[in-house]
Amino acid sequence: MDFDVLVLGSGPGGQKAAIAAAKLGAEVGLVERRNMIGGVCINTGTIPSKTLREAVLYLTGMSQRELYGQSYRVKEEITIGDLTARTSHVVGREVDVIRSQLSRNGVHVLPGMGRFTDQHTVQVSDGSGQERSVTADKIVIATGTTPARPSSVDFDAQTIIDSDSILSLDRIPRTMIVVGAGVIGIEYASMFAALGTKVTVIEQRMRMLEFCDTEVVEALKYHLRDLAVTFRFGETVSGVERYKNGTVTILESGKKIPADTVMYSAGRQGMTDHLDLPAAGLSADKRGRIKVDANFRTEVEHIYAVGDVIGFPALAATSMEQGRLAAHHACGEPVHEMHELQPIGIYTIPEISYIGRTEDELTEQRIPFEVGVSRYRELARGQIIGDSYGVLKLLVSPEDRSLLGVHVFGTGATELVHIGQAVMGCGGTVDYLVDTVFNYPTLAESYKVAALDATNKMRQISMLTD
Ligand SMILES: Cc1cc2nc3c(=O)[nH]c(=O)nc-3n(C[C@H](O)[C@H](O)[C@H](O)COP(=O)(O)OP(=O)(O)OC[C@H]3O[C@@H](n4cnc5c(N)ncnc54)[C@H](O)[C@@H]3O)c2cc1C
Repeated sequence: MDFDVLVLGSGPGGQKAAIAAAKLGAEVGLVERRNMIGGVCINTGTIPSKTLREAVLYLTGMSQRELYGQSYRVKEEITIGDLTARTSHVVGREVDVIRSQLSRNGVHVLPGMGRFTDQHTVQVSDGSGQERSVTADKIVIATGTTPARPSSVDFDAQTIIDSDSILSLDRIPRTMIVVGAGVIGIEYASMFAALGTKVTVIEQRMRMLEFCDTEVVEALKYHLRDLAVTFRFGETVSGVERYKNGTVTILESGKKIPADTVMYSAGRQGMTDHLDLPAAGLSADKRGRIKVDANFRTEVEHIYAVGDVIGFPALAATSMEQGRLAAHHACGEPVHEMHELQPIGIYTIPEISYIGRTEDELTEQRIPFEVGVSRYRELARGQIIGDSYGVLKLLVSPEDRSLLGVHVFGTGATELVHIGQAVMGCGGTVDYLVDTVFNYPTLAESYKVAALDATNKMRQISMLTD
């Protein structure tokens, strides 16, 4: 065999699998297209979108308007160049970091796309006609996904786009339709709304982000409507027409909505077409996803699959851990199964994050809970940063005082949630948060305020009933 472990794809899953295997002393090869080191995550997904969001927040001055007034802007005329300059800078740096990590750990990068020719052999084509056949004892498939593109829609990268081509828009549209209110659609809807684009979101279902706390989603909708976002729930797009000066989107209900740009965000498709899976004795479902067991092994024992190509939750964060765990298993290193507590972060404006269960889930499962709430506007840090809408909510078990869920909406939500995650993961109770001293003034203090709120409510019940 040429390699002990061969990894296909260098996104978070592949990258961490390759490095973990190399750290365990394996001879590792990694196949990836020359211009895609770091995967979708670094080049077209997480990193560019989160950098764009940061540029939008900074240049529009949005987060400072409570303090300096509604007309406050850092730059009057924000151009697409202002946004892409920051994105390309960060993407370039991140690609460098990954290249250096791979080379430091002795991972052999094989440029090109890999395709199985048998269960241990992969043909690598670099796109210029160069082919190379490599063999490996263990193989990790981490080929990720691409945006799903309905065949009836004529994508042209400028007026009808997806989350890949949004990064190469040549101007900020005045009006925009976002088809699909999933995480990616809503994140981009909120960024463009903050830039002043009039956004219409069209969603087939009657709700969006239904896995999140209902109150938090209501608060997000309120904020987005305040930024002139229109929601059309329960509506299906029947066609998009392109004209010289824009587009008209036609809904099944008969509505016609004009817009400069239409962005489709209607799910993603596993990148398995190119792999010739049957040559390895494997197959994918109709969304291109590969089935794995708890150790990320496919039906063929020595072939693993990790990251978005195995489906839910399809996050960079989980893909990394899956990659590490698969590599450890492949190299015979003892491994735990993936921790069931996984945070969800949604980088809308304002941002959302949570861990554990929602009120709706607990109610459905008939698990009693008490709610403790802390509002940023009652925290000194909330006043200092001008965030009056942020809120942190703890769901606490009145039976054993454990935390059942933590939901955060507002500045720093995706960072703050990890305090709750640590307490929950270590089996802590609400009393730990009541008794803890937090730095002051911080947003972290919201944990203590919410914990006091929950315990005060629980005490009221015992005062009445004892
Ligand atoms: C717009 C957007 C925003 C996102 N925001 C977030 C976020 O904020 N937080 C978060 O956690 N997640 C986010 N995600 C999801 C995150 O990007 C993915 O979960 C993550 O990138 C998946 O990692 P992966 O290891 O599956 O590989 P990917 O990053 O999907 O990369 C797969 C790589 O495999 C390569 N490849 C494909 N086929 C082959 C082949 N045959 N041979 C060799 N290489 C191949 C591709 O070139 C690609 O580079 C976002 C995604 C998008 C699209």
